[in-house]
Amino acid sequence: MTAVPEPLSLPTSDWHEWLASRCDGLLEDARCLVSELKQDSGGSAGADVLMARWNDLNLALDNAFAVASLMSNVHPDEAVRSRGEKAEQDAHALLTDIGLDRELFDVLVAVDPEALDDAGRRVHSLALRDFRRAGVDQDEEVRSRLKELAERETAVGQEFSKNIRDDVRSIRVEPDTLAGLPADFVASHPAGEDGLVAVTTDYPDYVPFMTFCRDREARARLVLEFLNRAWPANDALLHELVALRREHALLLGYDGWPSYDAEVKMIGKGSAIPEFIDRITEASDTAARRDVDVLLQRLRQDHPEIESIDSVDKMYYGEVLRRENFDVDAQQVRSYFDFGKVRAGLLAVTGRLFDVEYVEVPDAPAWHADVATYDVVRGDRRLGRIHLDLHPRKGKYGHAAQFSLTPGIRDRQLAEGVLVCNFSRALMEHDHVVTLFHEFGHLVHHILAGGHEWARFSGVATEWDFVEAPSQMLEEWAWDADVLQSFATDANEVPIPAELVAKMRAANEFGKGLYARTQMFYAALSYTLHQNVPDDITATVRDLQRRYDVFSYVPGTHFHTSFGHLEGYGSGYYTYMWSLVIAKDLFSAFDRSDMFATEVAHRYRDRVLAPGGSRDAADLVADFLGRPYNFDAFEQWLEEV
Ligand SMILES: [Zn+2]
Repeated sequence: MTAVPEPLSLPTSDWHEWLASRCDGLLEDARCLVSELKQDSGGSAGADVLMARWNDLNLALDNAFAVASLMSNVHPDEAVRSRGEKAEQDAHALLTDIGLDRELFDVLVAVDPEALDDAGRRVHSLALRDFRRAGVDQDEEVRSRLKELAERETAVGQEFSKNIRDDVRSIRVEPDTLAGLPADFVASHPAGEDGLVAVTTDYPDYVPFMTFCRDREARARLVLEFLNRAWPANDALLHELVALRREHALLLGYDGWPSYDAEVKMIGKGSAIPEFIDRITEASDTAARRDVDVLLQRLRQDHPEIESIDSVDKMYYGEVLRRENFDVDAQQVRSYFDFGKVRAGLLAVTGRLFDVEYVEVPDAPAWHADVATYDVVRGDRRLGRIHLDLHPRKGKYGHAAQFSLTPGIRDRQLAEGVLVCNFSRALMEHDHVVTLFHEFGHLVHHILAGGHEWARFSGVATEWDFVEAPSQMLEEWAWDADVLQSFATDANEVPIPAELVAKMRAANEFGKGLYARTQMFYAALSYTLHQNVPDDITATVRDLQRRYDVFSYVPGTHFHTSFGHLEGYGSGYYTYMWSLVIAKDLFSAFDRSDMFATEVAHRYRDRVLAPGGSRDAADLVADFLGRPYNFDAFEQWLEEV
């Protein structure tokens, strides 16, 4: 094996000391590189040398962020997690200083792009763009206002999210209202001294209650509480937040926050967002009406007087239809998804698809005994290393995500990535299997794009609204009967029946038109608030829901005050649907009856994943498909019944 470069050497004890010295060392290196760059403001070292130093600076920062963020999320020792958080804050502070460092910016401006090769020129132009977006070239007054705005945006955003988390509301119901709910739900909701049961607006209560409670009046009471969380406090905060963002964008010369935000995305322009929303709304119209008719007909069997469907009924009747029309037995499905077999199957499937082997490294040091480490190998070449940390434990990150440990740099640093999930050690739900494939899509992207010279291009370094597309596409392999039968076997080694997979697919596909329309309502809200800053947000919610959603507005509710994604996504809530459109387009190149066809799989690997951030996502997709991306495959998928 040509084993250069070596994996990062992880400690066998004293992780606190190791983490502190690694992060402090990397940040110190970064500071030294900044002063070295500034010393050479005459540009005497030459463009190549300057850009190589800039690359070293990016790499030092990326390495510090990666290990700090990973350890703050996974280490079993709380002290190590806190040390990771501190290192993350230190790295953020340094990054902010660098972004506003006028002297450093001037050094880069002085670099002649003509003296660089194509890749170097791209890194250089992205760096200048990021500097300008931070406001480094504005006058002192504007820069100080930008700083104030950024601080206030963070504070208001945090308060907005905190209000949502803290405002847990509840209703009290007669114990027999819980008829139809799962036994464990009933058992964990005993009656209080007044003989009534409390049901809260927290998701572990809200979702099962709205899905299974047969009492429509009780569901209506809970919806009213749920859609009024953080009202009215967050209404004023949201007004302030979108106004701050608007001022921020205008100061930098954009016509609003959406244009500022979209500039660095695949969608490119703020004005393309409403066009996209309208296009998806139109494309999903037939499917959405078809689905809502089915729901409404079933609802009217119980309540003939009702004329439209809203949040009071949509989850409940969705579940009724799943039971009555699709007949998928969740217990039976689980019996085919033993964790160990799924993990082995995932490695076999992706190994075959991307022509790699995963070689277990049984004695590799790791932060917890649950972590399984593999080298990713092709022929005699080690491409990277992955660490799978897949079971829950106290203090660990509670969702599913891919983390970088080290970005790969050609001939210099091996790509290492970590999958952090919370799956059962025994039998898995099928949607967890889908999640595992999805997250593994990010991991394999991180490794396969780990062969660049430039840190800026390494791994999942692509536009934010494209990032999900490769993972959304890999989910298709977790829905294919032939693929599933290669590893999903029950305790007697009998593979999952193809008819069962077909029923699971049909149940999953029902409602995709409804889903698209509701997503477009959310996307339109996120865009409209940021573009126009309306006086009456509740009225805007009502209007947009009528226009985009097929579910009706519930009178007396204020959805926007608990729509937490307005903090993190800003005007860009469209992104998830955007990348799904791209994912369906990418998948259209594959043959559903031959999911492992070598030519297309390798072309995808080499032209979409391996380039990382070295080209714009639209160019990667066009290079793979042989044409620019389009909406055809997505529209066709919506039409399929
Ligand atoms: Zn993802």
